[in-house]
Amino acid sequence: MKHLVYFLIIFLFVQCRNVHDRGGVVFTFDDQSVDEWVNHRGLFESYNIRATFFISHPKTLDSMMINGLQLLASDGHEIACHGLHHVSVLNFADSPDVYLKKEVLPAVNILEGFGFDIRSFAYPFGESTPQADSLLLGHFEYLRKATWNMDDTTIDAYDDIFVNEHSYKVMNSMGIDYNYRISLENLETGIRRARRNNEVLVLHAHKIDTIPEDYIIHPDYLEQAFQLINKYNIASLRVTDIAGFFEHAIDP
Ligand SMILES: [Zn+2]
Repeated sequence: MKHLVYFLIIFLFVQCRNVHDRGGVVFTFDDQSVDEWVNHRGLFESYNIRATFFISHPKTLDSMMINGLQLLASDGHEIACHGLHHVSVLNFADSPDVYLKKEVLPAVNILEGFGFDIRSFAYPFGESTPQADSLLLGHFEYLRKATWNMDDTTIDAYDDIFVNEHSYKVMNSMGIDYNYRISLENLETGIRRARRNNEVLVLHAHKIDTIPEDYIIHPDYLEQAFQLINKYNIASLRVTDIAGFFEHAIDP
């Protein structure tokens, strides 16, 4: 009996460690390509990937687009906020206070009016300031910035596109659309780092389409990225899953 107890303790310890070592990836999509996102619902579903969609210009959503976003939400994806007019906080003429009042909170109200629970914000053009971050964290659980492969290196070298259990409320993300030129081998370096360090890698893209143009991600590339998630058995998370993911990893 005593041995069985020891065995169970060791077994549970190993289980905890396995969860703890796992790591995750967050796929985010920005702006308003609702039709193209909805057209690829099956792709997300077949790999069990849940993503976060950051919506800009919510005033201009027509009823078809609202229905599309509701479909995505019913599939388990997160609908989140990306500003009222897609204005950068850095180019905004007034203070961050006024930015929050004019560009952020009205967008949240519109999206909440459509029935979405808005908990995350992605800065238009990916730029923020520490002052804006601390102000917006009074209204959102998570803030996402954006970057690209500016050092022309492997993406595992960018510390701020990985969040960990100590720091995850403000995150940067790596662009993976066609124009960002992140090869699948390069993407794999990021996934391997996330798994190795139990971090969460944050990625962003825009429209899903087969046209090789800026701010478009090819469905084949996306599918191969999803296959890497399966290959490394790492978690697919929405932005809002991040805190819970780290809590479970520590205390399952
Ligand atoms: Zn955007």
